[in-house]
Amino acid sequence: MDGTPAEPAPCPSNDSLLTIDLAALRHNWRLLAQKAGSAATGAVVKANAYGLGIETAIPALLSAGCRHFFVAHFSEARRVRALTKDAEIFVLNGFLPRTGPVYLEHRLTPVLGSLPEIAEWRGFVADHPDAPPAALHFDTGLNRLGLAPTDGADIADAHRQGTLGFPLRLVMSHFVEAEIEGSVTTARQCGDFRILRALFKDIPASLCNSSGIFLRPDSHYDLVRPGYALYGGHPLWSSDANPMRAVIRLEAPILQTRIIGTGETVGYGSFWTAKRPTRLATLSLGYADGLPRGSESTDSKVGGHVMIGGVECAMLGRVSMDLLIVDVTDAPDAAVQRGAFATLIGDELTIDTVGDSAGTIGYDILVSLGARLERRVIDGSDD
Ligand SMILES: *Cc1c(COP(=O)(O)O)cnc(C)c1O
Repeated sequence: MDGTPAEPAPCPSNDSLLTIDLAALRHNWRLLAQKAGSAATGAVVKANAYGLGIETAIPALLSAGCRHFFVAHFSEARRVRALTKDAEIFVLNGFLPRTGPVYLEHRLTPVLGSLPEIAEWRGFVADHPDAPPAALHFDTGLNRLGLAPTDGADIADAHRQGTLGFPLRLVMSHFVEAEIEGSVTTARQCGDFRILRALFKDIPASLCNSSGIFLRPDSHYDLVRPGYALYGGHPLWSSDANPMRAVIRLEAPILQTRIIGTGETVGYGSFWTAKRPTRLATLSLGYADGLPRGSESTDSKVGGHVMIGGVECAMLGRVSMDLLIVDVTDAPDAAVQRGAFATLIGDELTIDTVGDSAGTIGYDILVSLGARLERRVIDGSDD
């Protein structure tokens, strides 16, 4: 006995494990801030910080120096405000009737995107002169949220003449396909925004999401709004190496293994048939954990993989709610053991490749990460 109490052994568990690396998150924010040059760098933390967890991500982003957060819903804004008294919180989803008191109570910045929203905010501010300033969102092509650019001149006149009725904090727009290098649409949006921005010379402007930061350094303006790249997503559609560091890792334990003969089928609905004697492993993770149904290989298509012992193992049959079956015929025996872990996201399996093989995008994979995953937060080095 040396008197040092032994570390308690980790609790044995059949949960799948999501590891979140806060050092990688801070690194990514700093890399984007460096790319953004003299523009301020915010963080888009909608959808629970892209699935990582607002309470997990925001303290790390604050410690890296982030002071501007973008959310979609009030439920997110309240959680961000509980973590920071003075950071600015923009509510991207616009302004709905009679919601003014929420903006006032939590000091949120409304992002106004239509003439009725402007009129209602003006009415609210008339009764509440202590309300925060507002952002204006112009729609330059998404046809989703935002003012028509043709309304810009009138709004700018009202702003100049002091009849707008409230102070402006930001003028912004959003790209349609910023991830595509050389996009004609992006170039057109940049041109339209430049004209709008000239109408509001004294107001800070914001146009770039993650991809825009890389591809449109001429359009950084005063504040950039990265989301996906912060969390490790590849900001470009080119085949260049991803400049961002991976932030999450997803692993699932092997519950059982078995060998099936040629002609036997795997999973609900018999969508995959063995063409050779096949060794299977069943993993403790399913679509309830965020792995999309449709990620798997069937008799008619090639799907995604997991890594076991350094070998790519195909997902087979239908993903079940709580279970996933993979082909471990070629994986090393030592790695194919009950309780050993398979990697679903990590190393060469990026959120982009996982999204791609599931017929969706990495964004969807991130925001779908399940609530019952065991979440382990690590804080590696900041090099
Ligand atoms: C989601 C969103 C972003 C962030 O986009 P990424 O591609 O994740 O960087 C920026 N601006 C607006 C308006 C958004 O809705």
